[in-house]
Amino acid sequence: MSETLLIRSRRMVVGDGVREAAAFVRDHRVEAIGDYDLRVDADRTVDLGDLPLLPGLVDSHVHVNEPGRTEWEGFATATRAALAGGVTTICDMPLNSSPVTTTVDALRAKIAAADGQCAVDVAFWGGAVPGNLSDMEGLLDAGVVGFKCFLIDSGIPEFPPLDRDGLRAAMKALAASGAPMAVHAEDPSQVTTPSSASYDAFVTSRPPVAERRAIETVISAAAFSGARAHIVHLSAAECAALISSAKAAGIALSAETCPHYLFFAAEEVPEGHTEFKCCPPIRYAVNREALWRALGDGAIDGVVSDHSPCPPSLKGLPDGDFRTAWGGISSLQLGLSAVWSVARRRGFSLADVSRWMSVFPASLAGLPSKGRIAVGCDADFVAFDPDASWTVRGADLLHKHSLTPYEGRTLTGRVTRVWLGGAEVTPDDPPRGRLLARGGGPLGG
Ligand SMILES: [Zn+2]
Repeated sequence: MSETLLIRSRRMVVGDGVREAAAFVRDHRVEAIGDYDLRVDADRTVDLGDLPLLPGLVDSHVHVNEPGRTEWEGFATATRAALAGGVTTICDMPLNSSPVTTTVDALRAKIAAADGQCAVDVAFWGGAVPGNLSDMEGLLDAGVVGFKCFLIDSGIPEFPPLDRDGLRAAMKALAASGAPMAVHAEDPSQVTTPSSASYDAFVTSRPPVAERRAIETVISAAAFSGARAHIVHLSAAECAALISSAKAAGIALSAETCPHYLFFAAEEVPEGHTEFKCCPPIRYAVNREALWRALGDGAIDGVVSDHSPCPPSLKGLPDGDFRTAWGGISSLQLGLSAVWSVARRRGFSLADVSRWMSVFPASLAGLPSKGRIAVGCDADFVAFDPDASWTVRGADLLHKHSLTPYEGRTLTGRVTRVWLGGAEVTPDDPPRGRLLARGGGPLGG
């Protein structure tokens, strides 16, 4: 029996609002929620006063890259960075580890690599690639939260894209499970080779229509199969209308965007700074504002990091070439502060941010005990000072590599304390994260 905890805050994110409340925790879960002055005998009482308390974030899009590319990122570094940033659950993508997570054996290798070194809870996506239809059921039984696939070259030869028919077949195979198919939606027929090394040429080579055509393919596969589809890292805001109308037509479809698409704009990407390269690209400011509207009206459901680091040498800095640099942005530790910095300016609340960064990703990954401060849920909490201003120094981050496009940026809002399963934790503590299966049970047990 673990010690009981009573935690009070005058600004607790509960339900869909922020209010004065107290949460009582027993055996790692929230047992009761009451008024701020709730009287219960607890082993430990924490009174945060006006400091907001949020549900721990769930980042359903993280590339940990271990085993096989542990020099890019690893479970120890990624999960410590997550904890420092208020993320208490991550879902690891099936690439760019080696092996890629497209078989049960590969999932076992990943579980073995992660076991014992995770500072936060970790769940895993499986990969859908040509030829692994027969592996999907086993991966689902073994506990993956869903599948990820590409419709365009992933950059990793052992993780090739699905074509239209392959996508339909894979979605048919998982329809009965209710697990989602998360799709990297860019249509290769609409992508060209950049005409120069510049950022503008790179953005032009991957136009919004590439996302739009691919999302149309996904929508028709979802309609055909009845499976749940999820668009990862939506960048082209014009696709919001397409997504909304598919939802209105009853298609099981959701979409995420990422902090970098909401924070940066193409106009401000300095030439040669390939730490800003990701696919699809960060687009122009007008697109960024339209993404914010799509989040506000619910066309886009969530915000997750797509943390995808690589060794800095693969970025070709200091004079990076946007044609050849490896794509991927490193921001796992920064997502909450980055999004809050720009969300509050646009009139959004901490409850909105929690809905995008905790509630939605938990539901996408089928983790019902995560993402909310609610009776029966895991006692994963984040105390967050919404007014603290601080400047990002990559060298101070706990990611494996310090390179980040947020270098030198001043952010508003800082994580001050974190609880995982009712225990207050810091990145320096012995790792106590668990490995989770879809549904929230233990993985690989
Ligand atoms: Zn990704």
